[in-house]
Amino acid sequence: MTQAPGTLYIVSAPSGAGKTTLVKALIDEIDTLRVSVSHTTRPMRPGEIDGVNYHFTSREQFIKQVGEGDFLEHAEVFGNLYGTSQTTVEQTLAAGHDLILEIDWQGAQQVRRALPQARSVFILPPSREALLQRLSNRGQDSEEVIAARMAQATAEMSHYVEYDYIVINDDFQQALDELKAILLGNRLTLARQQALHHRLLSALLSE
Ligand code: 5GP
Repeated sequence: MTQAPGTLYIVSAPSGAGKTTLVKALIDEIDTLRVSVSHTTRPMRPGEIDGVNYHFTSREQFIKQVGEGDFLEHAEVFGNLYGTSQTTVEQTLAAGHDLILEIDWQGAQQVRRALPQARSVFILPPSREALLQRLSNRGQDSEEVIAARMAQATAEMSHYVEYDYIVINDDFQQALDELKAILLGNRLTLARQQALHHRLLSALLSE
């Protein structure tokens, strides 16, 4: 067996759809799957760790890195800048690992243009009511704040048609199984199997 380059996955979702929890469970269960740690200018939230959840950086530093071509994609989301390191993506895929980018629809469009072989998954909530409940459960936020979050979620969800796969996160275990099926199925495509098993494939056909 030789090494085949990994597959790049884009995973997007509105805030409150459970994307981060699902991706964490996937990483725990699937060997050789990695998740990219983005750079962001947003302030750190309680419990977050620099270098684990994000690489937290200043706006000046971020813009400098954009100028130096450090990012495969970058976008402004809710007033903060977010970007994916080009080098990390290249090195992780070259090492044969599959890699997940948890990014918004703007970043997804840029990655598809740069790397058309990337596969993209959109995670949706089971209903608007469920989403509203998940967005309200986060703390004691005012109705205005919650309404603004719902509007942002609707704007993000309007891009679901641009994705290769749709997963509806109603039952957590089922959504996780569906994500696993996407990943495992992609490991069996002709191109990937040819790269992985080229010796076997030619041996099988030799008289
Ligand atoms: P949060 O700040 O709540 O962690 O993330 C806010 C939004 O930014 C989410 O939609 C998330 O997917 C998106 N995001 C996180 N990292 C990146 C990134 O590197 N690039 C892009 N384009 N979006 C990102």
